[in-house]
Order: sequence, then C-alpha cells, then structure tokens
Amino acid sequence: MNYIVFDLEWNQSSTVSGTNPAIPFEIIEIGAVKLNDQKVMIDEFSALIKPQVYKTMHYMTGKLVHLKMAELKHEHPFEEVMENFLEWCGEDYCFVTWGPLDLNELQRNMTFYGFKPFMDGPLPFYDAQKLFALEYDEEKERRALETAVDFLKIEKDIPFHRAFSDAYYTAKVFSLINKEETLIHYSYDNFIPPKDKQHEVRKFFGDYDKYITRTFSSKEAMISDKEIKNTSCYLCDKNSKKLTKLFSPTGKYFIGVSFCEEHGYIKTKIRVRKTDSGRYFAVKTRKRIDEEEAQNIVARFNKMKEDKHLKKLRK
Ligand SMILES: [Zn+2]
Repeated sequence: MNYIVFDLEWNQSSTVSGTNPAIPFEIIEIGAVKLNDQKVMIDEFSALIKPQVYKTMHYMTGKLVHLKMAELKHEHPFEEVMENFLEWCGEDYCFVTWGPLDLNELQRNMTFYGFKPFMDGPLPFYDAQKLFALEYDEEKERRALETAVDFLKIEKDIPFHRAFSDAYYTAKVFSLINKEETLIHYSYDNFIPPKDKQHEVRKFFGDYDKYITRTFSSKEAMISDKEIKNTSCYLCDKNSKKLTKLFSPTGKYFIGVSFCEEHGYIKTKIRVRKTDSGRYFAVKTRKRIDEEEAQNIVARFNKMKEDKHLKKLRK
C-alpha cells in the first residue's frame, strides 16, 4: 500500500454574504507526494486550479500563499485537476495530511463538483500532526509543520506555504514516525458520517476507544440514545460509578467521568458534529485518566450545577 501525502491551498469569499455555504473554501492548489510502503518518496503531484466560485483573492490567502488571481486564470478547473489527481493516486493507498482539515475540504469540493466520495462512510487516514505530537512532543500538543521540521532537523530545501512544499515536508515528518504504538492511532474524516446503525464505527485503541454514530435529526435525540450516553468503563463494560452526569460546558461537546473498581477513572467525551445537510452525529471517546484530571472535571461539573442553582434563585 502507498501513502498519498497531500496538502491544499484554498481561497474564500472576502465577505460573509458572498460565501456559498456548499463550498466555503474553494481549492486553488493541490500538492502531493507518493510514498511506497517503506515510506520512500516515489512520485510527486502539483497543480494550480482555476477558481470558479470566488474570483477575487481573500487578502489572507494572497498573503500566506503568495498566489495572485491573474496566475490562476489560465489553469485547469477543479473537475479536470481532480480527475488527474485521482488517477495519479492509484488503487491501493492511504491518505496522510497535516491536521484534520484538508481531507474534509477536499471531499466538500468534490461533492460540490459532483464527484463520488472516497467511501460510503468515515474515511480512515493518518493525521501526521497528531502522530508527531504522540511520538515526539511531551505535551502531546498540535504544532506547526515548520516546528516539527525544525525539531526533527529536516533540511529546509524548499520554501513553506505552498501546497507541494507542505505535502513534501509532511511526508518527511511522517517518514520519521516509526513506532507501531504511534501508527495504530489513525484518524477518521467524517465528511460522510455512518449512514445507519450497521455502518457505525467502533474502534478500540488501547488507551481509549472511539465510536462514530449514525446521524440524528436533533442534538437532543442523539444525546438521549442509550448507547451514546452510556459512560461505563470501555475496558470491562461493567457498570461503573458515575462521578458526574454528562454535561455540556460549551454546547459543542458533552463530558462526564466515571470510576471503575478495576480500571480507575474513565472520561467520556461526546463531540457533537453537524453535517452539511443539518443532521447531527457524535464522535464519542472514552479514555482512562488520572485522579487529578478526574477531580478537575468533577469540580467543573459542580461549579456548573451551582451556577445554575444561583440563576434559578435570582429569578
Ligand atoms: Zn473497567
């Protein structure tokens, strides 16, 4: 199996009212390198794309990517470039990107132009930014690509911030990620969520588990599903003691903590995701945490309960 390491540059509307919600970010460049199964570079791909939606360059895109609209006018449209890219990718490959955004925007652009999605559901890929953090960063934080390149003492022989160069450096970083326990942590792009219960994704990663649910018409329907709101221990599935209910500090996710006699503190986090067609699904993880983190969550839960109580009293 080959690895297709790619990076995109995209442009957007300069105004909110000028934004087409079906394609908020229009791809203007695709750069990629192909690695064989030994992670050796065997081929390259680079193409600029003639914009069809946003015909003026957003000032940030121009500044960051150093591309001018006049240069793009004579390039090929997305449909043509994408067809060439797909052919270049071949049959047996896995995508690698720096961060989780590129694969999502690529699929959104593909859908806009009538291409079929890569898979009929969540698409597994390697997020090299996450893997670099797991293998090399003590704080396990997401870093800029150039930070990783400097840390690994990779020679900076071409300039950053163009699609091809960023794909090239991502491939160099990825080829230095070798531990098996790092590489089991592949990611999922959820542009196409599971279509029904049979196609839901349940994966066990050792130190945590992941569950990507089917879609629901509302957030409330989703969070009241029995399996989704279950916060018991993912390692033994025994009923563990709930230290908090599931609560939502920001509205974007729900969090809760339980205690299992055998496996200790278990944090459940349910990220709420909305599809382009307005339906909801959840990406749920359950993870072992230490006592300090557990106590922090319990404290946040109690503070929220208290605040709610005070609000009621003031009414
Ligand atoms: Zn347990």
